[in-house]
Amino acid sequence: MTQPALDLVIAALERIREKNDRAPRASRTALARLEDAPVVVSLGASPSHRGSQPSNRAELLAAVRERVSACTQCAHLACSRTQTVFGVGNPDADLMFIGEAPGADEDQQGEPFVGRAGQLLTRILKAMNFAREDVYIANILKCRPDLPTGSFGNRPPTPAEMQTCRPYLVEQIDIIQPSVLVALGAVAVEGLLGTRSAMRELRGRWHTYNGIPLMITYHPAYLLRNQAPSEKRKVWEDMLQVLERLERPISERQRSYFL
Ligand code: SF4
Repeated sequence: MTQPALDLVIAALERIREKNDRAPRASRTALARLEDAPVVVSLGASPSHRGSQPSNRAELLAAVRERVSACTQCAHLACSRTQTVFGVGNPDADLMFIGEAPGADEDQQGEPFVGRAGQLLTRILKAMNFAREDVYIANILKCRPDLPTGSFGNRPPTPAEMQTCRPYLVEQIDIIQPSVLVALGAVAVEGLLGTRSAMRELRGRWHTYNGIPLMITYHPAYLLRNQAPSEKRKVWEDMLQVLERLERPISERQRSYFL
């Protein structure tokens, strides 16, 4: 038997409001997802966390991607970009990584984390027994921060640019609903949480974003600049905490990396 999920949820929300004398809230994205999702009423055992309902996350992400690709809210970036860099990976991922902004390589290829830092992130994922396709990877900013003509390299996004683009990332997180978020570097943290602190104070412990456990660690570009095994070990210890949180098996070999 099927019934529009939205009707069921609205009825449940009405009951909560009657009992608690307060208005329950739901995001626009959540309501849009419910509108299309049929609910299968089963007399069997309750299904587990994920895979219990058919996912339309890919379609929802595609709709946001389309809006992003036409976005000109930051006129200076819309003029200078080769293309927008939306995000890549599994729309049903349990684990989502967030970086700051596309660099030159990402701007050219239209995919986040494909340059040298991205290749290091891919190696870190492999050491965690993940492929890039298993997780979801996105940046705070979807356009490459521009540079004066004739200059090379990359610049970090400004707070104003991050604030303008942040709603797209919020939608991505809202759709994917990962079990764990990882923010890579202080700029990503500032874009996501709106707070600026030293990485030594932020990394290595759990924070939360909208109820989702958030691990903060160094950006892979930092590890390329600072090749000390002690710094690699810090990032790896953060990733071990992520694996534990996801209840993934960890081998003795994995535990002893960079020791
Ligand atoms: S950075 Fe984000 S908000 Fe600004 S133009 Fe690009 S997609 Fe739009």
